[in-house]
Amino acid sequence: MNEEETWTPTEKDIEWTIGHLSSITIGGVWAPGGSGLEYERTGESTLSLRKITQHPDSGEMHRRVLLTLDGTDWDIIEEEAEMVLPSLNPQEEQYQQLLRQQAIAAQWECLTEDCSCKLVDMPLENAKWINGGMQAALDENAQGIEMERWFVEFPCNECDNIIRIDPKDYGLLGGDDLFFRWVTDHGVYTVLTREQVVDMVDSDLATTVCTALGSMLNDEAVPPHMRGTYCLHAPIQSGEEE
Ligand SMILES: [Zn+2]
Repeated sequence: MNEEETWTPTEKDIEWTIGHLSSITIGGVWAPGGSGLEYERTGESTLSLRKITQHPDSGEMHRRVLLTLDGTDWDIIEEEAEMVLPSLNPQEEQYQQLLRQQAIAAQWECLTEDCSCKLVDMPLENAKWINGGMQAALDENAQGIEMERWFVEFPCNECDNIIRIDPKDYGLLGGDDLFFRWVTDHGVYTVLTREQVVDMVDSDLATTVCTALGSMLNDEAVPPHMRGTYCLHAPIQSGEEE
């Protein structure tokens, strides 16, 4: 028997997968990296396979997902799955997948019953990054590891519900401009491009308005994707921010 036939999920695999699926908004998409698979969370504990790529790796990954959820409350619906051909241009395929995911994300609604406010219309620009501590996760080779879990929170425009989503989903909703912007009690940090850094340094502004981010800032953990970046720091002003 080869490795593929003998693979069984560990407790950690199961724990991580369920934790991850629970963090996805109903209507949200789970597309495990590089697997050529797309699932939609269609219910409290229901996952629908939307796309599967005609490739052995994709089929194997789907089989592992089925095995992982086998003894849990989660059901996988496969009937509506679309079989897609592997792309000859992986970059183009990635871009197309991003567009599809953004289109789906734009339809996500508030979780409150009777509230149909779309997440994309909520005040995403003032979202808060929440450190959820260390949690079990899977790396690219489906090995259990410990990693920091982060969430992004923002209030609904129409009801008082606080929406809490996965950073990746926040990136889909807000795009790179909002993703690389960190709102704290001490101000807003926006990642600068290389060209912007050059301009700031050349104009002698860097020492007064720019900050390099490490892992902690003002006793607060810096979100992982902001670490090691060079940012424009805009102190919080009373009243409206532009
Ligand atoms: Zn709402």
